[in-house]
Amino acid sequence: MRKSVFAVIIAGIMTMVWFAGGEAQVRKSSADLALINGTVYTMDGSRPKAQAVAVIGNRIAVVGVNEDVEPFIGPDTRVIDLEGQAMVPGLKESHGHLMGIGVAKMTVDLVGISGYDELIERVLAAAEGIEEGEWITGRGWHEEKWSDRSSLTVRGFMTHHRLSEAVPDIPVFLRRADGHAAFANARTMELMGIDRDTQSPEGGDVIKDADGNPTGILVDKAMGLVNVPSFTDNQRRQALELGIQECLANGITMFDDAGVGLDGIELYKEYADQGKLDMRVYVMASNLHTMRALQKPWSHADGFLSVRAVKMYGDGALGSRGAWLLEPYHDDPGNSGFYTTPPDSIYEAARYGLEHGWQVCTHAIGDRGNRMMLDMYEKAMKEFPHVKDHRFRDEHTQILDEADIPRFARLGVIASMQGIHATSDLPWAPDRLGHARTEEGGYVWQKLLKEGVKIINGTDAPVEDISPIASFYASVTRERPDGTPEGGMFGDQRMSRHEALRSYTLDAAFGSFHEDLLGSIEPGKLADFTVLSKDIMTVPENQILDTEILYTIVDGKVRYERGRAAMP
Ligand SMILES: [Zn+2]
Repeated sequence: MRKSVFAVIIAGIMTMVWFAGGEAQVRKSSADLALINGTVYTMDGSRPKAQAVAVIGNRIAVVGVNEDVEPFIGPDTRVIDLEGQAMVPGLKESHGHLMGIGVAKMTVDLVGISGYDELIERVLAAAEGIEEGEWITGRGWHEEKWSDRSSLTVRGFMTHHRLSEAVPDIPVFLRRADGHAAFANARTMELMGIDRDTQSPEGGDVIKDADGNPTGILVDKAMGLVNVPSFTDNQRRQALELGIQECLANGITMFDDAGVGLDGIELYKEYADQGKLDMRVYVMASNLHTMRALQKPWSHADGFLSVRAVKMYGDGALGSRGAWLLEPYHDDPGNSGFYTTPPDSIYEAARYGLEHGWQVCTHAIGDRGNRMMLDMYEKAMKEFPHVKDHRFRDEHTQILDEADIPRFARLGVIASMQGIHATSDLPWAPDRLGHARTEEGGYVWQKLLKEGVKIINGTDAPVEDISPIASFYASVTRERPDGTPEGGMFGDQRMSRHEALRSYTLDAAFGSFHEDLLGSIEPGKLADFTVLSKDIMTVPENQILDTEILYTIVDGKVRYERGRAAMP
């Protein structure tokens, strides 16, 4: 199966070579898409910059100046005049959670509302088009910040009555901004059997009014009285479609999904089969069990979906002091974090991966978590010395001990890092780690690059916004959006713009074995491009964040165009 797909791809490339080689034949073919008058950054070392590109079918046929492309423009060619704007190879998110992005969009956002009226308004908007059996969930309300506080009548909170009147039939469950309380309507309480006889559980509070009836406010452990059902099939589809739309609107043409279960893979496959997966997706199976159940890696025939990796979890996160450290936390001296998967399981995944052609991608944040991962990879690699091109990955690579940095290069482990995490975390990371350790090993892009390690970039969306522009900015400045601190946090580790673009294109493609087909703008490669409103390679740093996505082109088709709804 994989062999035949490969043969088709080779045939495709050969066709293009033939096109490029035979001038007479070339002039007979007209392009399906021509992009002219651009500032094209190709990431092709032999021709780093170009002005125009012609696409035939889903492949790049010509890269050059306008005059090179003009002969290919026929009556049926769609011509896009880039008007000098910058075009780069399609940007790739190397570590995100596609369904999560969609789910976040489907959840009612209550951050910043002025009061109860607006809460009801937003829930009503979400109620439109909802299907039988589905719930409305939301988050972010914060009654202390409301300008209209007239509704806060019982112990400083609102009561469910007006919400229940507005939405009587659909269960509603809305989490407070801090996650320590939730607000339910009558339908939810009825379904969960919450009534005047319900006792507050230990560590929680079912708030009741003067008559002894629950008000809908559930504090801490009392939130556990409500079991929000898992998504319906319809909701899962909606989440996937919203996730893809959000990516395309942000210029993302390919997405490495960091942990997908069997049912998710089934859903993606169905979309790919129907040609509805408008963005390329590379799947990391959610765990060892999922990988084993799938048996062999596989790719969808048209290259839109590949399942070839497995996601493992080495340790916890830095914020919650779960990242596994060699020395205790600076602000919690009795604690060094912990591993979340026994090291033996990482080793087992690595062995299985090397034996059966799976790429292993392990979440590792703390310096001990990273070392353990490298140790387990190395141990397995010694047993399979003939497997050279495994491309095992380290997801996050946040805190490293200096001694481990060269090991990435030696073992051929890819550092899958999120540029935006650096500027989100570095302001407080020294609290956890102390200054010296943060400086030595925190998001050390230059130290890794100097060793020859490949860094691939992303956002971990929906943990961070999916914007590659924001992550690119963070990668090249290590400054917050307001430009502080000037010169960046541990600014000597900043990436150059070329390095940052490579981490989002050519090296990102390498991260999923796609560098022969994607990641640069060269004849014969697949036609994935992102067109930007500003030239991120040359504008002053403080203008990078103003960059908008003008076009997202995947497989030769415009999938997103600024100011227009998605159009295949
Ligand atoms: Zn993640």
